[in-house]
Amino acid sequence: MADQKTVLVVSAHAADFVWRAGGAIALYASRGYRVRILCLSYGERGESQGAWKQPGMTIERVKEIRREESTRAAKLLGAEIRFFDSGDYPIVATQETVDAMVVEFRELQPEFVLTHSLLDPYNPDHPTACNITLQTRVYAQALGYPAPGKPLNAPPVFLFEPHQPEQCEWKPQVLLDVTPVWDTKHKAMESMEAQTHLWEYYTDLGKRRGTQAVRNGGPKGIKYAEAFQRYYPQVTTELS
Ligand SMILES: [Zn+2]
Repeated sequence: MADQKTVLVVSAHAADFVWRAGGAIALYASRGYRVRILCLSYGERGESQGAWKQPGMTIERVKEIRREESTRAAKLLGAEIRFFDSGDYPIVATQETVDAMVVEFRELQPEFVLTHSLLDPYNPDHPTACNITLQTRVYAQALGYPAPGKPLNAPPVFLFEPHQPEQCEWKPQVLLDVTPVWDTKHKAMESMEAQTHLWEYYTDLGKRRGTQAVRNGGPKGIKYAEAFQRYYPQVTTELS
């Protein structure tokens, strides 16, 4: 559909988008948006504990496992996914990757963008992914940047909730009700078999943010929510 609205999600590692934005992804997919995930790394070194515990594991096999898990999770959430295999600990974006991301921005013209927090002392790849996203978003706006497609407008950027927000100077400025798609998010989390220890953690977090959403004026029916921080100012004609 030419007039289909789109959302762009940039995930440092194979599972980040599931824990941190799986509800938002499933929600917008259920509303008919085209949701596209760019996954910069498989998280083969830093975030694949379960896979490395299996005997005879190799880096290529870990990447394969994580790729399969992420592909399955994206499908469950109703999204497309593209992998860049930019390494892990550290992620290093080549010029080719930067150019490809500019093209993604220009082709998709997303309504909004989701990515990581600016800081994360527990995983330097997360801020790296955030910076690459912010850079390529700006490049995609520049008429003079040599890439095909129409220059990008100014889609808002929302930063995912990091694992320990207080350590990342991140605040929950937006609480998104994801109750209608919670079962879908939970199924996607369960497809991340290399990180089973996080299923319960992110279920508890979803509930807690849901309770806070009601406390902040949301409808009583909210059971689960995801939190985001805005990067750019909100433009509005109403203070609400
Ligand atoms: Zn990660």
